[in-house]
Amino acid sequence: MRSPDSRHSLRPGLMQGIGMTSQRTRDRMADRLARQGIADRRVLEVMASEPRHLFLDEALAHRAYEDTSLPIGHGQTLSQPWIVARMTELVLEEAPGRVLEIGTGSGYQTLVLARLVTELWSVERINALHRRAGERLRLLAVHNARLRLADGGHGWPEAAPFEVILLTACASALPEPLLAQLADGGVLIAPLASRDGEQWLVRVRRQGDRFEKQRLERVRFVPLLEGVIR
Ligand code: SAH
Repeated sequence: MRSPDSRHSLRPGLMQGIGMTSQRTRDRMADRLARQGIADRRVLEVMASEPRHLFLDEALAHRAYEDTSLPIGHGQTLSQPWIVARMTELVLEEAPGRVLEIGTGSGYQTLVLARLVTELWSVERINALHRRAGERLRLLAVHNARLRLADGGHGWPEAAPFEVILLTACASALPEPLLAQLADGGVLIAPLASRDGEQWLVRVRRQGDRFEKQRLERVRFVPLLEGVIR
């Protein structure tokens, strides 16, 4: 962790940014998201104010606000702004409560969620990404998100049940433990691969012992994988 002093000297430069990481660039991204159909003002405001460029390596930071996904190392990607916004909107449609994210990655989706929900848990299977995300979130004073290095397919049993479970990696089948950790009336939002290899964002709502699945939109995510990389 950085000492408070170095944090203060770092923050102004990082927060204001220059050129492609400036406030104007972020505002343009938010305008584009609104045109693309993102209607929730809370999501647009958070994405217009939070520094997405800090979640990328320096060499890619100037592309942070483009309408595209970008590599974050280890074969993984930071999702494009639209899908981050869309998934956050879907989370906010639910009763505010406990949210579990599977696939911390860079930590950007975690940050956006943390600004809008009360309590958040996030699991990542690759240690290097888990650690870097933790550093970024500490730097940005995110105090309501707990991170864990683990195979997210097992969920976070001690913190269950969750009102929302969000996957940011594509499953070929929905992991049973995640369904079991949903609160009654809660939803799991996840990219799911169909038999023909297409990916769909699905929303699965738990009603007692029943799970009702709804297909939302075509998407493209990296796969949900098993095990932990230390
Ligand atoms: N939300 C992230 C997206 C990262 S890509 C962001 O904003 O940057 C998806 C992430 O899911 C990757 O970091 C990948 O390592 C992670 N992942 C894949 N399978 C996983 C699993 N079983 N448990 C935890 N994380 C997993």
